[in-house]
Amino acid sequence: MDGVTEMIDALADRVAGGGVVVLSGAGLSTESGIPDYRGPSGVARRHTPMTYQTFTRDPLARRRYWARSHLGWRLMARAEPNDGHRAVARLQHGGLVDAVITQNVDGLHTAAGSPAVVELHGRLDEVVCLDCGNQVSREELDRRLREANPGFDARVAAVNPDGDVDLDDAAVAGFRTVDCTFCPAGTLKPDVVFFGETVPAPRVARCFALVERARLLLVLGSSLTVMSGRRFVLRAAKLGIPVVIVNQGPTRGDGYAALTVDAPLGRVLPALADRILGPVPGGLAGSDPVGAGASAGAG
Ligand SMILES: [Zn+2]
Repeated sequence: MDGVTEMIDALADRVAGGGVVVLSGAGLSTESGIPDYRGPSGVARRHTPMTYQTFTRDPLARRRYWARSHLGWRLMARAEPNDGHRAVARLQHGGLVDAVITQNVDGLHTAAGSPAVVELHGRLDEVVCLDCGNQVSREELDRRLREANPGFDARVAAVNPDGDVDLDDAAVAGFRTVDCTFCPAGTLKPDVVFFGETVPAPRVARCFALVERARLLLVLGSSLTVMSGRRFVLRAAKLGIPVVIVNQGPTRGDGYAALTVDAPLGRVLPALADRILGPVPGGLAGSDPVGAGASAGAG
C-alpha cells in the first residue's frame, strides 16, 4: 500500500471540488526559515512573548522589544515564500481556493502571489502610531532606527515568528527607539496583534463570513493552540463544513477534522497542486513527500 499516494489522493478528493478557504499558521513558514515555536521540533520560546499591555505601559520593555525586533527584522525581511506558499497561490489562481486567512505576520502568502489574503494578526512590515493612527512601512522605520543607532551590533541568536531575537540588557540599554513623525512623541508599534490584544472586530467578521461561505476549511500548518484561529474551525464544524488539517504534529482541531495529514507542507502542497492542476512546466513536479502520514477521521 502506498500511503503517500493515498494521502495525496484523499487531499485532492477534498480540495478538487473548490470552494476552499485556507487557514494558515506558523508551520507553513518554517520552511522559509521562520521557526514555528509551537511546532513538532519542540523549540520553546526563549523569552515571554510581548503582551500589548506590557508594550504600551512599560517604556523599558518597549525599548527591549524594538532592539530585539530591529535585529530580527534583518532575518524576517530576507525570508522568502516556500513551495507551500506557492502551491496555495496556485490553488487560488486555479479557482479552487477562494481565500486565505493567515495567522502569520510575515506577508509570505502575498509575496508568493496569493491574491486574496486576510492577515488575521496583521503584518510585521507595517508600523502604526498608537496615538495618531498614522501608518508607516517597516522599511522606513528600519531606516530611522538604523540612523538613530549607528553601529548597533548585537548577537542574533534566534528569531521567533514575531521577529524577536535574544539580546542582553547592556545592548538593550544602548538602543534608541524613535517616535512617530506625524504627532508629538507618538508611540510606534508593529501593526500586528500582540498577545493580550484582540483582533479588530471587522477583520474577525470578515473571516467568519469567508468560513461560513466555504465548502471546505483547509488548515495548513497551525496547531490551533490559540482561540484566535481555532474559533474558525469551531464555526466550520458547527455549520457542518468539513475541516481538513495538514500539519506536522497533532493540533487542537483534530477532533473536528474529516481528514488530518501529518506531513511537511512544502512537499505535500506542491504534490497536491500538481495532482489537481497538473505539474508546473519546469517545476519540481512529482517531488515525493516522504515521511508523510495521513489518517481519516469521522465526518
Ligand atoms: Zn503619531
